[in-house]
Amino acid sequence: MNRPLKVIIVGAGIGGLTAAIVLRQIGHCVEVYEQAPTLRTAGSGLSVMSNAVAALSSIGVNLKLEHFGAPIKRFEIRNVKGRLIRSLPIPEISSSNGFDSVCISRKALHEALLQQLDKNIIHVGAKVTTITERDDGISVRFADGRETDGDLLIGADGIYSFVRDYIQGNKPVRPADYICWLAVTRYQHPQITPGYVGHYWGAGKRIGLVDVGDGEVYWWGTANMCTEQARNWQGNNKDILAYYQGWPAIISDIILQTPSEDIIAVPAQDRPFSPLWGKGRITLLGDAAHPMLTSLGQGAGMAIEDAAVLGHALKQQSDPISALRQYEKIRLPRAEMLVNASKMLSDSEQDDRFFHCLKRDLSLRFVPTAKLMENFEKSLRFSTGDFDFDAVAAG
Ligand SMILES: Cc1cc2nc3c(=O)[nH]c(=O)nc-3n(C[C@H](O)[C@H](O)[C@H](O)COP(=O)(O)OP(=O)(O)OC[C@H]3O[C@@H](n4cnc5c(N)ncnc54)[C@H](O)[C@@H]3O)c2cc1C
Repeated sequence: MNRPLKVIIVGAGIGGLTAAIVLRQIGHCVEVYEQAPTLRTAGSGLSVMSNAVAALSSIGVNLKLEHFGAPIKRFEIRNVKGRLIRSLPIPEISSSNGFDSVCISRKALHEALLQQLDKNIIHVGAKVTTITERDDGISVRFADGRETDGDLLIGADGIYSFVRDYIQGNKPVRPADYICWLAVTRYQHPQITPGYVGHYWGAGKRIGLVDVGDGEVYWWGTANMCTEQARNWQGNNKDILAYYQGWPAIISDIILQTPSEDIIAVPAQDRPFSPLWGKGRITLLGDAAHPMLTSLGQGAGMAIEDAAVLGHALKQQSDPISALRQYEKIRLPRAEMLVNASKMLSDSEQDDRFFHCLKRDLSLRFVPTAKLMENFEKSLRFSTGDFDFDAVAAG
C-alpha cells in the first residue's frame, strides 16, 4: 500500500460519494465538500447498470443495491399504442456478467452510499470558489472563507463543475432541446411486475415506467421543447398528460395520480466530450468530466466506474500524480464512447418525423438478437480498456 494521501473531493453526488467509499477502502484519508446545505436528494430514480456494480466489486466494494432497489427482470420497448416493439436482453447480459442491473430511487441509492461512509468526512454548505496549486499539495477555499489542504483534488461537482471550469475554462453546456419530467410514486398495476422496465417510444416524446422496489414506481417522460421553455417549465400533471393524449391508459393513470409537486422537470443537456480532465494534483470524475444524455441510463454508472478505476490507479502507482494521469488515460475512450452513443440514441429516440420513427421502431424490432446483444454488451460490461491492472499487480 502506498503512503496514505489526503484527498479532497468536491461534490457529494453519486460520483463524489462513491469515490469517497473507494478511496477509504484502499486506505486514503478523504474529505468531501458539498455546496448544498444538506445531503437531501431530489425524488426521482435511476438505473445502476451491471457494469457499475462489477466495477465496484473489482475494488472490493459491495453496496448491496438489490436490498435498496429492484434488479431488472424485464426490459421492454413499446410503441404509443402499447404494442411491444422488442424486449431488450439487459437482464440476460447483466446475469452473464455476474451482477444485476438495479433500478433504484435516488433517495435509496444515497442511503446505500452513505451507509458505507463515516458522515464526519462530509462537509455541507461548502461551496468551493478558489483552487490553489502548490508543488507539495493543493488548497481549496470555500465561499464562506474556510480553507482546506490536501494531496489531491477530485472534482465530482457535476455538469456545472467549478473544477472543470478551472481546468478547461468556462464553456456552455449542449442543450438537447427536450424536457425530462421525473417522479417516484407509490403505484400498482399488473403490468409492473418486480424488476419491470418499460419504455414507450413516440414521435418526439417518450415515457418510461420503472419498478424501483418497495411498492414504488419511477416514471419519466420526455417531450421536444426548446431549452429555455424546458428550464422554465411551470406546468402541472394535467399539462404533462396533454403531451401523451391517446397513449395507453397506464400512462395517463400514473401521471394523474402523481401529485404535481412531486414531479421534477429538467432540460435534457450534456457537453461535447473533452479529453482534458486534469492537471497536476487535480482530476475530474462523473458528470464533471463527461455529462451524458440519459438514453443509455449510464451517467451514474460511469461516475461509479470512474471511482473504481481511480482507486485501482492509486493503488498501483506509487506516484499519485501519475496515478491521476493513468486513471484519465484508461477512462477517456470508454467515457467518450458512452457520451457519443447516448447522444446518438437520444437523437433517434426524440426524432419526431413519422418515417424516421417508423424506421427506428422497425430497426429495433428486426435487428438480429446477436447484434442487439453485442450493442448492449459494449456498455454493460465493465472494462478498463487496454490497461491490465492484474498484469501491473503481478509485474
Ligand atoms: C433525467 C435524468 C435521468 C437520469 N437517469 C439515469 C439513469 O437511469 N442511470 C444513470 O446511471 N444515470 C442517470 N442519470 C445521470 C446521473 O444522474 C448523473 O450522471 C449522476 O447523478 C452524476 O453524478 P455526479 O456525482 O457526477 O454529479 P451530481 O449528481 O451532479 O453531483 C455533483 C454535486 O456537486 C455539488 N457541487 C457543485 N458545485 C460545487 C462546488 N463549487 N462546491 C461544492 N460542491 C459543489 C452539487 O451540489 C452536487 O451535489 C440521469 C440524469 C438525469 C438528468
